[in-house]
Amino acid sequence: MNRYQAPLRDLRFALYDVLGVEALYARLGFASAQRELMDAVLEEGAKFTQNVLAPLNAVGDREGCTHDAATGAVSAPSGFKQAYAQFVDGGWSGLVAPEAYGGQGLPESFGVALKEMIDAANLAWGNYPLLSHGATEALKQHAEEWQRQVFLKPIVEGRWTGTMCLTEPHCGTDLGLLKTKASPNPDGSFAISGTKIFITAGEHDFTDNIVHLVLARLPDAPAGTKGISLFIVPKMKVGRDGVVGAHNAVRCGSIEHKMGIHGSATCVMHFDSAQGWLIGQPNKGLMAMFTMMNTARLAVGIQGLGLADRAFQNALAYARERLQMRSLSGAKYPDKPADPIIVHPDVRRMLLTCKALIEGSRLLAYHAATLVDILDHGADTEEKKRADELLGFLTPIVKACLTEWGVECTYHALQCFGGHGYIAEHGMEQLARDARITTLYEGTTGIQALDLLGRKIMQLQGAGLLAFLSMIEDFCKQHTDDPALAEFIVPLQDKARQWQTLTLEVGKRAATDADEVGAASVDYLFFSGYVALAYWWARAVAAADASSAASADFRTAKRETARFYFARILPRTLAHAEAIRAGAKPLLALDAALFGL
Ligand SMILES: Cc1cc2nc3c(=O)[nH]c(=O)nc-3n(C[C@H](O)[C@H](O)[C@H](O)COP(=O)(O)OP(=O)(O)OC[C@H]3O[C@@H](n4cnc5c(N)ncnc54)[C@H](O)[C@@H]3O)c2cc1C
Repeated sequence: MNRYQAPLRDLRFALYDVLGVEALYARLGFASAQRELMDAVLEEGAKFTQNVLAPLNAVGDREGCTHDAATGAVSAPSGFKQAYAQFVDGGWSGLVAPEAYGGQGLPESFGVALKEMIDAANLAWGNYPLLSHGATEALKQHAEEWQRQVFLKPIVEGRWTGTMCLTEPHCGTDLGLLKTKASPNPDGSFAISGTKIFITAGEHDFTDNIVHLVLARLPDAPAGTKGISLFIVPKMKVGRDGVVGAHNAVRCGSIEHKMGIHGSATCVMHFDSAQGWLIGQPNKGLMAMFTMMNTARLAVGIQGLGLADRAFQNALAYARERLQMRSLSGAKYPDKPADPIIVHPDVRRMLLTCKALIEGSRLLAYHAATLVDILDHGADTEEKKRADELLGFLTPIVKACLTEWGVECTYHALQCFGGHGYIAEHGMEQLARDARITTLYEGTTGIQALDLLGRKIMQLQGAGLLAFLSMIEDFCKQHTDDPALAEFIVPLQDKARQWQTLTLEVGKRAATDADEVGAASVDYLFFSGYVALAYWWARAVAAADASSAASADFRTAKRETARFYFARILPRTLAHAEAIRAGAKPLLALDAALFGL
């Protein structure tokens, strides 16, 4: 059986010891985010995810969702609806939502810890609240007050859920091509017509109503992305007074059969003059939707992290028990018929790769989430500006690296099981299949890389990178005389310098040939991710050494894992740098017509 144990010790270490959230939350005015309450919430979250969600993970994979072609109704797998009811009863749906709309107003970065546990326990189930969270953010920031009262409150309370309807059959990445139409109605609403595909949680049996956030074009809207508006289209019509009326002209035509996350309904949605309400300004919908997409991008990064952790936990338990062959340097457990496979260097390589990527990623992602809190609740304009630049810079790194590492780690973990990883019994192949979607939805890895290099570095003059480099510099200066940290500080400073040089080199080339950006982007993204993780690993060692709560074993584990990271993972940057320096030519030289010869 595939197990999940919420990693509470490391979650607390990340939040309290490394990121110092207690002081941050106090400064940002989160009165209720006290240690005692946060600890209790983490404990309860662990119980809910371990006991309720985790056992349903395999059920969801086996059963999948079902679609009734006659009515368009969709049923989630057994137990999913009941788990959602428990989630709502426990007050989890509004954990980080504003108190003004019925939420508990806890910090976003604290909610990320709960999210990680949910994703690890049951990624497919977690997609339903994930979409509601994204819709909450978009409505909070862009909707009119009546819209917030009518649509946001029920979502926060968990009575309704949200969706994000962007993709159409002919347009995924390139939303400028979208065709769904919106025509004004005499009562101020709009008639929305078109077909959206791949809509997560587009239809299900958890709640009576579903609030679709739909991108569509108004009559005479300019072509491309400048002519896209955002609309609220509820499944059941809702008036300005909040009274729920008849079924809207929205229907789920079918659901997709897919590689993983079978318990998450992926729907084709038909809008046939459905009643909708404009959110924000006409033709500015993409900007509003980006609020939702940015939240969702961080959230999908966390999905990669959660899956990697669950896979690692199971591989570790297996590697301690599975007896095969003897250690090359002599039997380590002579009383047993063979040694457990954890003695073999190659198995340790796979396990340590997972451990190093997971624990480093946790810090990278949780830190990014604290920037959301600073942006939303900070009082200092300069600090908010810096948080905005850093968050914009880190979001594509978190989304793309954590999901790609999620795929890598689930594969390493499966490999530790040998052939037993490939068969369904241990649940490892499900984790590997489930992880695969995370590098695709919410913008593929390639698109995140273009966002990072093309926009955050080239267009915005690397403001976020400079902010991150100054964090590295500050930390290195602070520990410059600390011999215990020198083994990390020196290579970190070196990598930070290489990062700067590489960025300048890419910028120079791109100034004369735009294809250089596309050619360098994914390698640049990984180079950035690995250096960012080196910074967080150095900080983790420093924080563990300084923490009175950390045991000697905990400190040793952090230091040795950091050593492994610096020695065996960070050198991946060398290959990425070489590939970047090779430039666009090797990629573009072969004529497209000659690829298939
Ligand atoms: C299970 C699932 C759930 C989903 N949930 C939702 C949802 O809730 N709402 C929603 O609106 N959508 C959803 N999607 C859609 C998802 O976001 C898109 O599939 C994704 O953005 C990619 O779009 P596409 O599939 O059309 O691929 P395409 O855009 O056709 O891309 C194909 C390939 O080309 C690459 N590519 C495209 N343009 C460029 C470029 N300029 N430079 C470099 N490479 C490029 C891409 O990286 C990719 O590798 C979901 C998809 C799936 C499979």
